[in-house]
Amino acid sequence: MKPVYHSFLLLALFACSCFANAQSDSIKTLIITGQNNHNWQVSHLALEKILKNSGLFSVDIAVSPAKGQDMSNFIIDFEPYQLVVIDYNGDSWAEETNKRLVEYVKNGGGIVFFHAANNAFPKWKEYNEMTALGGWEGRNETAGPYQYWENNKLVSNSEPGIGGHHGAPHEFVLNARDTLHLITQGLPAQWKHAQDELYSFMRGSGKIENLLYTAFSDKATGGSGREEPLIFTVSYGKGRVFHTMIGHVGSTLQENAAMQCTGFQVTLLRGSEWAATGKVTQPVPDDFSKANQISLRLEYFPPVRICN
Ligand code: ZN
Repeated sequence: MKPVYHSFLLLALFACSCFANAQSDSIKTLIITGQNNHNWQVSHLALEKILKNSGLFSVDIAVSPAKGQDMSNFIIDFEPYQLVVIDYNGDSWAEETNKRLVEYVKNGGGIVFFHAANNAFPKWKEYNEMTALGGWEGRNETAGPYQYWENNKLVSNSEPGIGGHHGAPHEFVLNARDTLHLITQGLPAQWKHAQDELYSFMRGSGKIENLLYTAFSDKATGGSGREEPLIFTVSYGKGRVFHTMIGHVGSTLQENAAMQCTGFQVTLLRGSEWAATGKVTQPVPDDFSKANQISLRLEYFPPVRICN
């Protein structure tokens, strides 16, 4: 079925009377990027566009030194921020930055783990507790159990084996497992995601607090045969943690279906607002993906600017 395309109306932006308020009240956000086995040069720009274009967030970007370079001066002050978005998978940060991030979340900071951020730092215990589930980078049963949806509940399985896998990228349906959470309230119980990687065999000892969406990882597409947790919140200290495993970045902002997907953008925006404030003020948009039809926001703009 053909996807529905929504183009942003330039007039709508400037006609919106909430514009000035949204800017002054915006949620102060820091995206951390700079190394990844993914095209971070595009993904962090897409994340920035999605967040800023909603009118709810102001965004700073912290770009780490390149792979193999000295990290000792990459010290981040998290104090000014209500939200930290991790778009990073690379060399270890300075110990001081690690310590500050853990304290920030423990003390009630909001954090979003995006896609391959859950590949990062396999040996950093607290980081893996914050993500709850991780994969690749040598992970195996020592990283914690597999966690997946079976017989209408989230189960843990400590059998030995790999940590982290995905089959061929494809379109797949997200299944809601908690429709009462603020992030998912009002969204359809099923929606079709644009072509993306479906992470499977993820493992970790962290505590998934609210499992929001799973998807079936079909062996026919090289998957696990399990219903895999892909979007969830994590219990860690006083912090609010939102983890989305979807959103594999493309080659350019224009060739980037998984991040252009309306379902990806809306769940990211709602999860980000919740992580930062504990609330979700965003209405459910009319262009949200349907169970049998993907929807794309090619320019990373909502069809109507969000006002709060
Ligand atoms: Zn990926």
